[in-house]
Amino acid sequence: MIKVTIYGAAKEIGRSAILVEDQDTKILLDCGLKIRPKKPTIGPEGLNEHTENLQSIVISHAHFDHTGYIPRIVRDGYEGSINMTHPTKDICAILWRDHLKIEGERHWSEDDMYDTLYQIRCHYYQQKFELADGVSATFFDAGHILGSASILLDWKGQLIFYTGDINTFETPYHDTNKYPTLEEISFIISEATNGLRDLPNRESPNKSFIDAIKATYKRGGVTITPTFALGRGQEIEAILAKEFIDTNFNIYIDGMILKMNNVYRRYFHEYWVSKKILEWCSDNRIEVPFDLRNFIGVSRNLADNLDTFRKMIVSENKPNIIVSTSGMLEGGPIHSYLNHGAGNPKNLLAISGFQVEETIGRAILDGERKVNLFSWGKKKGAEVEIKTEVRQFQFSGHAQRNELLKMLNAIDSKKIVFVHGLESAANSLKNELKNNQEVYIPVNKETLEFQN
Ligand SMILES: [Zn+2]
Ligand SMILES: [Zn+2]
Repeated sequence: MIKVTIYGAAKEIGRSAILVEDQDTKILLDCGLKIRPKKPTIGPEGLNEHTENLQSIVISHAHFDHTGYIPRIVRDGYEGSINMTHPTKDICAILWRDHLKIEGERHWSEDDMYDTLYQIRCHYYQQKFELADGVSATFFDAGHILGSASILLDWKGQLIFYTGDINTFETPYHDTNKYPTLEEISFIISEATNGLRDLPNRESPNKSFIDAIKATYKRGGVTITPTFALGRGQEIEAILAKEFIDTNFNIYIDGMILKMNNVYRRYFHEYWVSKKILEWCSDNRIEVPFDLRNFIGVSRNLADNLDTFRKMIVSENKPNIIVSTSGMLEGGPIHSYLNHGAGNPKNLLAISGFQVEETIGRAILDGERKVNLFSWGKKKGAEVEIKTEVRQFQFSGHAQRNELLKMLNAIDSKKIVFVHGLESAANSLKNELKNNQEVYIPVNKETLEFQN
């Protein structure tokens, strides 16, 4: 009998942690922290009691809700291997260091982080690796962000498929996600993020985004695009690169996106990104899309006073596009651009992704027009009135509903556990399944039992 206990991300998004065990083996899939606006992060509850007899940890991808709690497991005494892809390791190191700056040593210390890095083992897609006696894993490209993987566990002859976060869309850097269709799978553990909504295919948000940028320039404004540093940021860079190559548009990149760009550059070959994007780059004699001559990384190499420099970018009457963190406007250089640019109704604030409740980005989308932003030189920040046009473009890094159902119906498995999504999203998927699959929608800390 195999037991599965969901320690986080049951009926929620955040702090993914799934323990798979039988009487003599324990493997942990993912180990994240949940980020909550204006509140401290929380980890998976109750996981620590297993730390000492865990045999192995396998990580699907670098996003913080899947990796933020790993150094804590090491601090609590875990000495085994932590398995992930090569890009995931590099991205984790950046995210963990950034987290120390934001939240301090609340869950783990800098030393714990370095200890953790020593325990990481890296693997490529489609190469089986051993986790414990009779238990091995294979990574499948999940198409979600650089290095993202779904995990196929071979558990003493039984197969278990954990999707991690998957993207069924073809995006600028990645083909659609891969999954096993030939083998019989004992049970699937699947994300359910977009279980409630079907999103338009990628061409339509891409086109409306580009049209909006051009219209903004025509009326004498600049486009300000807050975005996540990892994944979405690079995707938007690629969309802009393809559209504005050989034009006079200036594309300013600011904030943590620049650090993540370096990781993308390091892994820019066919193991990790799609052939299409490699061909496009080689046709245009560049290494990565953000190497085009009209891409400008905003850093201290350009100006001593970055606030003044950003003010110039956002105020000058030129075809300027700003792509900056943070994606939900909770911090980062985007505040500087809005301080100086939000008062101009000709400008466009182009929100590029889902905005969590209680974030500044969400408030603006909900119609709030006076927000408190960080301001250079003013400790308490400043109230800024948003007079720009505000639009949201529906890019999502997750499987859309129909495609997710197609995958779940194509995999030969009679049992599905839904995680990483609201209960309503999981229920909506459950009602549409075709093959009489048995569906589990557990709560946190619930243990499910699967007979051989
Ligand atoms: Zn993710
Ligand atoms: Zn996630």
